[in-house]
Amino acid sequence: MTEFELIESFFTKDRSQRKDVLLGIGDDAALLKVPAKQSLVVSTDTLLSGVHFPEKTAPFDIGFKALAVNLSDLAAMGATPAWATLALTLPRANEKWLKEFSRGFFTLINRYGMQLVGGDTTRGSLAITVQVLGFVPVNKALQRKQARVEDKIYVTGTLGDAGLALKLLGSSKLKKSAYLLQRFNRPEPRVETGQALCGVSRCAIDISDGLAADLGHILRASGVGAHVFVENLPLSSVLKNNLTKPEAWSLALNSGDDYELCFTVSPSQEPKLKKVLGKIKCPYTWIGTVEKKPGLRLKYPQGCAANIALKGYRHF
Ligand code: ADP
Ligand code: MG
Repeated sequence: MTEFELIESFFTKDRSQRKDVLLGIGDDAALLKVPAKQSLVVSTDTLLSGVHFPEKTAPFDIGFKALAVNLSDLAAMGATPAWATLALTLPRANEKWLKEFSRGFFTLINRYGMQLVGGDTTRGSLAITVQVLGFVPVNKALQRKQARVEDKIYVTGTLGDAGLALKLLGSSKLKKSAYLLQRFNRPEPRVETGQALCGVSRCAIDISDGLAADLGHILRASGVGAHVFVENLPLSSVLKNNLTKPEAWSLALNSGDDYELCFTVSPSQEPKLKKVLGKIKCPYTWIGTVEKKPGLRLKYPQGCAANIALKGYRHF
């Protein structure tokens, strides 16, 4: 199979044709049209075998996750996804692998009405780089630098599930937990939530490296600090039933890959927040409050002797 046959077979067939794609796959570059009064939002992420997913991961899940983690970044800006490009480095052209990878990738492309508009295909160790492009109304993007003193801090969903899955990797316990496998292999980007937060929140981040690290980015960028109540950290029943409280809190604070959103809301906007997130049935939890003093401080329940060290994933 040549490079061109490969692209033709797995990445161009029966794809949705968006009106804003003037020229898609097949030329030296794509031609795209950004709607009036919208900013173009662009983000890219690479997934490496053995770093971002275990080598044995199913190709469907690799394709799904490659797009999911990128969409999570768009969600954190409040953007509506539109287009994607895919740079694929493969050790060999394995048709079965490519078919499954493509199925996983296009699951999310189609769900969000996106179009794959270009890419690159090369031979080498497995690596997947996706770029996603989307829109946000001018001046409405959610930014890390926009947290303000007295803003309430919220997170969506539950935290620490992907972290527990990673800890249990290879164990029979993990193989039996459909919930943990799902959370680890097929993270659901909070695209609708990000869009709903536009105009309610000004500041968000997606949790890829762990809450402490990612909230830390918000706090530094905004020149503020915060306290977080460990008892408020949202935990799934799997975490609650299998770990002690301090173990679960530590995972919720320090483990990455959950791809939930952390965002801040000024107290005056809280009724509106309830309305917009209620409408899309997005679970969210108040975990703490922004304050003037720099740094992140954990608050423990009375009589609790836990003292959790804060860290986050670092590539270097
Ligand atoms: P060039 O040599 O001009 O860079 P390529 O041969 O790399 O062009 O690509 C030909 C066309 O196929 C381009 O439109 C490119 O965007 C697209 N393409 C290449 N690889 C992929 C891929 N993995 N997924 C989607 N489109 C791809
Ligand atoms: Mg070219």
